[in-house]
Amino acid sequence: MIVGAGLGGLATALRLAHRGASVLVLEKTDQVGGRDRSLTVGECRFDAGPTLTMMLDPFRRLFADVGEDIDDHLDLRLCDPSYRVFYADGSRIEGSPNAARMIAQIEALAGTHDALAYPQLLGRLAALYKDAIPHFVRKQFRSPLELLKPRAIQRVLRHRMLGNLAQRIDRTFDDPRLRMLFSFQTMYLGLSPYDAPWVYAVLTYMEYGEGIWYPMGGMTEIPRTIADLAARRGVEIRLDSEVVAIDGRVVRLASGESVTARTIVCNADLPYAEQCLLNQRPKPRTHSCSAYMMYMDVEGHYPELLHHNVVFGADYRRNLDDIFHRHMLPEDPSFYVCVSSRTDPDRAGNGRENLYVLVPVPNLTHPWSPADADAIEKTVLTRLSRDVGFDPAAIRAKKTFSPRDWADTLHLDLGAAFGLAHTTFQSACFRPPNRSRTNQDVYFVGASTTPGNGLPMVLISAELLEARLAGEGRL
Ligand SMILES: Cc1cc2nc3c(=O)[nH]c(=O)nc-3n(C[C@H](O)[C@H](O)[C@H](O)COP(=O)(O)OP(=O)(O)OC[C@H]3O[C@@H](n4cnc5c(N)ncnc54)[C@H](O)[C@@H]3O)c2cc1C
Repeated sequence: MIVGAGLGGLATALRLAHRGASVLVLEKTDQVGGRDRSLTVGECRFDAGPTLTMMLDPFRRLFADVGEDIDDHLDLRLCDPSYRVFYADGSRIEGSPNAARMIAQIEALAGTHDALAYPQLLGRLAALYKDAIPHFVRKQFRSPLELLKPRAIQRVLRHRMLGNLAQRIDRTFDDPRLRMLFSFQTMYLGLSPYDAPWVYAVLTYMEYGEGIWYPMGGMTEIPRTIADLAARRGVEIRLDSEVVAIDGRVVRLASGESVTARTIVCNADLPYAEQCLLNQRPKPRTHSCSAYMMYMDVEGHYPELLHHNVVFGADYRRNLDDIFHRHMLPEDPSFYVCVSSRTDPDRAGNGRENLYVLVPVPNLTHPWSPADADAIEKTVLTRLSRDVGFDPAAIRAKKTFSPRDWADTLHLDLGAAFGLAHTTFQSACFRPPNRSRTNQDVYFVGASTTPGNGLPMVLISAELLEARLAGEGRL
């Protein structure tokens, strides 16, 4: 039995069914995909959560492991340029996996010292990635003591994995704009680069070393395809089926029905599942930030916006400290804008563009109010008007999603859109393990268990869980 049809739950269902297990998935909402859901606003279709993927290996591996070829199912396109960056001083740069193009742009923006620093950084990141993924990410830790093995210590020291990420990038580049460009990727984990260990620079490598990818038809094609493949192997997926408690091997639904299973996999986010389904006391843990979302059906064309865009506020460090430490709304926020109709015209109506805006904001340790939403929207629209000539009068339809909605709709504790934070003591062997300590028949898969947040990580979480279930005689 799998509670939750997010990507982690679906990938687990597919893997287990492929091995012959009989699997039932119970999902609270009316669609599969969890955070990777679809949304229609006016004449536009949106991916409501993830808009891109990096690190294709776990995707290819999932399909290959169940005897399928990913290219028969998903039309994955490389986005190059990856994104356009808009700085507060009016300058711009485009991220790209094309190293020669990056060096030329950095030279023009910031001069020779920083241009020479870039290939050196890329080399260091490639070496880090090569060591970190197999030994710290795609790894079933059983105890923190595993980090004390000599080879693990050697690896940590070789790359200085536990050093501070932002500080190291600050030492690499003189130009503050490049410091932002090569450190903001930890925000994909809902983590400030000033609080992140260096090991998470693997995200910068994934972007600049391998590039970012988009499946035609939208990100929701990924969970839809995996759900189809699982169904073909006999998995039953029940939507609108909220689970309210797990007692031993009995799963109780909001409808009053109870179902018994030999093994229960919780894909509902781990802190929520422990407190609300397993009735455990909350543990002192650090949560990621949240996100305020705007989905807009817009008339007209804004060619200066690419498919993916990053807009930096004037004071990067202050913006991050406001979100993560002062727990207050940033006055001049950095934000991300996606226009997937740029690559995939069918996503927007004729003469329309589908504008998705994601603004990182504090989680619900900051009490959310409608005035916060007004303040954010005003700042975002003003900045877009200044930088790309956006006309707010062109908005034909709009929906928004606040930290409260992440908590209520998808059961993300404290509205933390990216689950538990990836601080050093919530990473690798310190992250909550994928088996419950209080109920031996309950396992976890997804963003807040090991190895962590993001679609590729969640797929690796399903790989690790499959191996564990097999090792513990449950398959
Ligand atoms: C705004 C945003 C943008 C993102 N962008 C990216 C990106 O571009 N690329 C990327 O790789 N990652 C991105 N991520 C991260 C990515 O979306 C997540 O890491 C991933 O989708 C998490 O999958 P999951 O399976 O762990 O959980 P979820 O997707 O949260 O799925 C859990 C499921 O459990 C269900 N559930 C909860 N409680 C119950 C219950 N009681 N009974 C039954 N079902 C229940 C929920 O409804 C949900 O369907 C983004 C996340 C957000 C929020």
